[in-house]
Amino acid sequence: MPNPELDILAIAAHRDDVEQTCGGTLLKMAEQGKRTGILDLTRGEMGTRGSAEERAAEAAAAAKILQVSWREALDIPDGRVENTWENRLKVARVIRQTRPRVVILPYWKGRHPDHYTASKLGYESCFLAGLAKLDVDRALSTQQSAFSQVASAVASVAANEEQGSKYEPHRPFKIIYATLYYDIRPSFVVDITDQFEARFESLMAYKTQFSDQEAGKDIFPARGEIRTRVESMARFYGMLAGVTYGEPFLQKEVGLVKDITAIPVKSI
Ligand SMILES: [Zn+2]
Repeated sequence: MPNPELDILAIAAHRDDVEQTCGGTLLKMAEQGKRTGILDLTRGEMGTRGSAEERAAEAAAAAKILQVSWREALDIPDGRVENTWENRLKVARVIRQTRPRVVILPYWKGRHPDHYTASKLGYESCFLAGLAKLDVDRALSTQQSAFSQVASAVASVAANEEQGSKYEPHRPFKIIYATLYYDIRPSFVVDITDQFEARFESLMAYKTQFSDQEAGKDIFPARGEIRTRVESMARFYGMLAGVTYGEPFLQKEVGLVKDITAIPVKSI
């Protein structure tokens, strides 16, 4: 995919996380003409079902359903998302490249270490990306050479030198957190009533993960069960906001209101 400048970039640990937590919101924004993108930190090589290649094809199919303009996966090891300097540089590089106004991160608490680590890693990368004096490409190549990841480092340094160090500093205006994986009251809910079916189909695009099959049957629920779970969650958050289906988010900042007669969600 080309490297467009984005309005919204969702960052998540695993392929299919975005589909489960904020895919409806991304689709809704795309339908309003916004340019959306997804950065998956890992490639799914540790999964019980399917290879990393199969998951890449599935992620591309899901991206198409959600009408995202850009999607890529970093090479951070699956199951080992760590908030290291090198990983922060890799994510900061993507933020400079795609220049989103809004970044969606996973909520900073959760059961899976990759999820909560991705949250902190994403936040700190947003900060780094805005530092005017930081040359991300140079720092990254120094870092990679230091750990002698020779082949890939040399290749990426050569590529970077060819194109020049091209990405200007950029810090997103807004960071919001997708909270669906964690039981916490959201700051706001996005109405995804019109996007719910497509969002569910984007999840089902991960055929190796979600089709009814024998391998890993004890840890993977069948399609019908997934439908019930996904629908229940979307209905619950929709209900909180007075709509049919919703996706929950948290922001650290307060909400700002211009007209108190126009605040949505009925009180009594
Ligand atoms: Zn995940």
